[in-house]
Order: sequence, then structure tokens, then C-alpha cells
Amino acid sequence: MNNPSSPPPRILVLGTGGTIAGSGAGGTGAAYRPGGLSLDVLVAHLAALGLTAELVPQEIARIGSQDIGYAEWQALHAACSAAMDDPAIDAVIITHGTDTAEETGFLLDLTLPTAKAVILVGAMRPADVVGADGMRNFANAVKVAGDPATAGRGVMLVMGDAVLAVRDARKAATSAIDAFRTFPRGPLARVTPSSLDWFGPTHRFNEPARYAFPAELPRVAILTAGAGMDEKPVEALLGIGARGIVLAGMGQGNAPRVVLEALARAAASGVPVVRASRVDEGLVDRNVEVDDDALGLVAARALGPAKARVLLIVLLANGITNAAEIQAAFDGG
Ligand code: GLU
Repeated sequence: MNNPSSPPPRILVLGTGGTIAGSGAGGTGAAYRPGGLSLDVLVAHLAALGLTAELVPQEIARIGSQDIGYAEWQALHAACSAAMDDPAIDAVIITHGTDTAEETGFLLDLTLPTAKAVILVGAMRPADVVGADGMRNFANAVKVAGDPATAGRGVMLVMGDAVLAVRDARKAATSAIDAFRTFPRGPLARVTPSSLDWFGPTHRFNEPARYAFPAELPRVAILTAGAGMDEKPVEALLGIGARGIVLAGMGQGNAPRVVLEALARAAASGVPVVRASRVDEGLVDRNVEVDDDALGLVAARALGPAKARVLLIVLLANGITNAAEIQAAFDGG
């Protein structure tokens, strides 16, 4: 809890759009525009709730997060880095669409120091429909950002009255309010606008950034395995200059034998291959059904395909191309 006599926390709020800033749905309608509301309007709505925090808005974009890319990621990283060094800012909240929140969050998690909390927040219902969840989630994020025990946990996502580590979080429902799941850990905390209960201590206290922010995005493709497929899609990806491939495999990262053989040829030619799973949840471990040692492949462990791609992008951009070193990064917490 904040000391009542200390000044309210000063929180940088970076807006990118998404459903939390969605408008135009009408009270009950379905069609709407993500990012239709400006960040100033959102922050004004929130300020009217009487929260004990000073919010400093900075708009990065007003887009659906399916359109987010290098320019926005670079702007977010620069703004968060500046906030880390600014004694007048206590924490950062990023309003974000939920479709790719795990990707943006994990990219920042890998490339920012942990001195101050960085918290993503989104919504599943646009701001102007009945039962909108955005203000609740935003108020919860302010509660988390203002807590002195928040920093040192990596980048977090606040949704559905829970605080999730982005490394563990994935969107698992297209429209339900309770859209995110976590694996292998459960939520880090439960939160409401008036309460916050952490389930463990900080575990990344004052760590430096793990990796440099990419100077460019190497092309890393996700290939989803399907029964009866052949090796041609692997060859097509190599043909367009893929620098890395993530397999969204069946079960524990499986694929038809001809596909695995093509992926092994890709790895041997210097294009690292990471085996993840198209299944919702679970570990992909080395050498279970697929002989990773013989084929030169990497097992994604707890990361699903979207976050495995982000990690492989960051590793390649940092010059890490060796399968053993890539595996070590996927093994690391
Ligand atoms: N597709 C949009 C986005 O990710 C809206 C979905 C949402 O925010 O929940 O920004």
C-alpha cells in the first residue's frame, strides 16, 4: 500500500489503441473500431474515478494490435527506457489491443530492465458497450502500477482482475471477458481497484535488460503443422528468405516425417528451427518423440508459437544463431 502521506504515484500511460480504446459499437452492437478513442479521453474517464495516481498520457498509436509492428515497438521501447531513467515517473502502463498483447509485452520483457514496472492492459469489450471491461482493467492496472512491490516481476498484463506475467500469458478466447490463460505459472496476483494480493515475492529485482532491442526484425515465420502436409511450405519459407522458423506442431511439437526432415535441412543450412505446439497449453521438451539432437532443432519448452517467434527474433537480432545457445534461452525463465 502507498503511504497516505507520500505523493500519489506518477504513471506514464502509453496508448496504442485496441478494444480498450474501441468505440462506435452502440450500446449492444458488435461492430466497432479498435483505437477509436483518444488516450486523453480514456485517461479523463479514469481520472474521474478518483484514483490516487497522477497519469501522464503519451499516445504512441491508435490501432488494432493486429497492425502493430516494428515502428510502434521501437517507440514503446524508447518511451519505457526513458521512463526507467526519469525520476519523475514511477511506473508505465501501456494500453494495448489483446490480440498481440503477449507479443508486445514479451518483446519488452526481453529488452527492458526491471527497475520500474511496465504493465500492459487491454479490454475485450469496447468502451461504449454495456458491460465494458476496459475501465475496470485500467483502474486495476493503476492499482498495480502504484504498488511499491510491483517492480522486479518482468512485464505484466492486467486483465480480468488478475496480474499475469507476459512470459506466461496467452490469449485463449476470442471474445470472452476472461480471455487470457497463463502457463506454466498461474497469475502473479489478484487485483481489484481497491485491493491487490501478490502470490509471491519479486523474482527479477533490478535486473538489467536481458537482450538489446532489435535494430531490425529478422523474418521469422510460424509454420502450423497439419495432418497430411508435405515439405513444400518449409521450402517456400526458405525461398522468401526466412531467417528462422517456429513450428506450431501437433502435440509436443510434432510434424509429419517429411516436414521434420525439411526443417532439419533448414537448420543445417543456418536457419534455426524452434518446435512449439499448436495445442493450447503444455511443455514441448527436447528429444521426446522428435530427436532434436540428431535433427539440430530447438524445443520451445513453455512458450507457445507467438512468443517463441518473439524470442527467436530477439535472439537472431542479437547475433545468437547457434541451436544450443537458442535452446538455453528457451530453457531460461
Ligand atoms: N483486434 C483488436 C486488437 O487486438 C481488438 C481486440 C482487443 O483489443 O481485444 O487491438
